Amino acid sequence: MSDINKFAHLEIWFVTGSQHLYGPEALKKVDEHAKVLVDSFNAAGSLPHKVVFKPVLKSSAEITQFAIDANSCPNCVGIVAWMHTFSPAKMWIEGLQILRKPLADLHTQFNRDIPWESIDMDFMNLNQTAHGGREFGHIGARLRLPRKAVVGHWEDKEVHERLAAWARAARGWYASRTLKLARIGDNMRHVSVTEGDKVSAQIRFGWEVNTFGVGDLVAKVNAATDAQVDALCALYEKNYRVAPELQKGAARHQSLRDSAAIEIGLRALLEEGGFTAFTTTFEDLHGMKQLPGLAVQRLMEDGYGFSGEGDWKTAALVRIMKVMAHGLKGGTTFMEDYTYHLDPANPLILGAHMLEICPSIASEVPKIEIHALGIGGKEDPCRMVFDCAAGKAVNGSIIDLGSRHRFLVNEVECVAPQQPLPKLPVARVLWKPLPDLKTATAAWIYAGGAHHTALSYALTSEHLEDLAEMAKIELSVIDEDTRLRCYKTELRLADLYYHLAQGIQG
Ligand code: MN
Repeated sequence: MSDINKFAHLEIWFVTGSQHLYGPEALKKVDEHAKVLVDSFNAAGSLPHKVVFKPVLKSSAEITQFAIDANSCPNCVGIVAWMHTFSPAKMWIEGLQILRKPLADLHTQFNRDIPWESIDMDFMNLNQTAHGGREFGHIGARLRLPRKAVVGHWEDKEVHERLAAWARAARGWYASRTLKLARIGDNMRHVSVTEGDKVSAQIRFGWEVNTFGVGDLVAKVNAATDAQVDALCALYEKNYRVAPELQKGAARHQSLRDSAAIEIGLRALLEEGGFTAFTTTFEDLHGMKQLPGLAVQRLMEDGYGFSGEGDWKTAALVRIMKVMAHGLKGGTTFMEDYTYHLDPANPLILGAHMLEICPSIASEVPKIEIHALGIGGKEDPCRMVFDCAAGKAVNGSIIDLGSRHRFLVNEVECVAPQQPLPKLPVARVLWKPLPDLKTATAAWIYAGGAHHTALSYALTSEHLEDLAEMAKIELSVIDEDTRLRCYKTELRLADLYYHLAQGIQG
């Protein structure tokens, strides 16, 4: 089992801003109150990471040093800043300009209520987020700083939820900045949407995307020992419903052994290189017995990002969304819009892939089966077959528009299978896109979204919005409020904005 999902060491830093004007007594109170907030967040366990208290900042020099410290601490994935008092924001310019960690602007007040009977100017001077926070907001806007503003009392459950979503996005951003992706084979020939500029992507997202010849994988597959293969086949029989013909001693058991060897080889290649995402392509399988199906599903189940046909952008997004969703209920997978059900009474999209859907979204214990595959010209591949649960989900696609990236998201409602699909030997999911199939699909087409997506039952548009903010890319959400005429205008305005905002960079 890989350790790619170890995140317990990551931290959120909590800092307050103030100034010397208030005197040591008031500043001591600010620190005391900040500690109460930090302890409360940690005790509630509502954020996915430990919140670490940092002493109140009172000058430009302290703020700048804080930013340097945050930038150079690899475990710090984000900063929550609170202006309990008034912190003149010109002091923040240098620090915020160099800060490279995601920022949440917590606009809260220590006292929830105004103490009507006892309120005096001392109380007012200490509890002045209402204007101190606006000063901080101003400098964020002036610097065009990516950030999330969270407003409300710190004990308010909704404040915890907004911060938790941001913290998950911050963890995803950390995964993005450290992501190494192995491409085994190139892009599917002639396909456009899966292409892109890997240099731009590394500048924007931090992804290291490098290619390996399939021979590098074949060597590792061939190095799998009988003992390793025996153990993995036994694990398959224990954890999944293996088809009788594939079980030990049965006629096609060798095919399961070949699949197991592929998993062992692929896992070794990824672990040795420190990769957290990968792609394969059916057009480059020289020396492989099967297209990797079961192996890819098993690796996605462990948290690796994957996409087929050399689609490295979707593979990276699957990995990032898996990191963001880790610990939440509901799975996250590589997905493809495959076939429509255009019954006007109940229009649906059937999502699947040739083989490679992650069992984290399965509604049942997956079956492991073997069937012919029409493309690739290899032996029949083993794969997990399952249906998926009903529930809300998001479908995400990052596309390369040549000069910039667009992050396209569609909110969808997954529905239970309408009928048995006895002759469809792949994992599959059915969904209704919001606001309806016609509008959502037209919007997706206008936006240029891919047929490949990362689908998650665990995440919401809010998580993905926070991530897009950190990456400073366009987020375009298709949801229940989408109206096509407005949507087309949104896309055109975004083109204009990002052209101006980004200029000649990237
Ligand atoms: Mn595909």
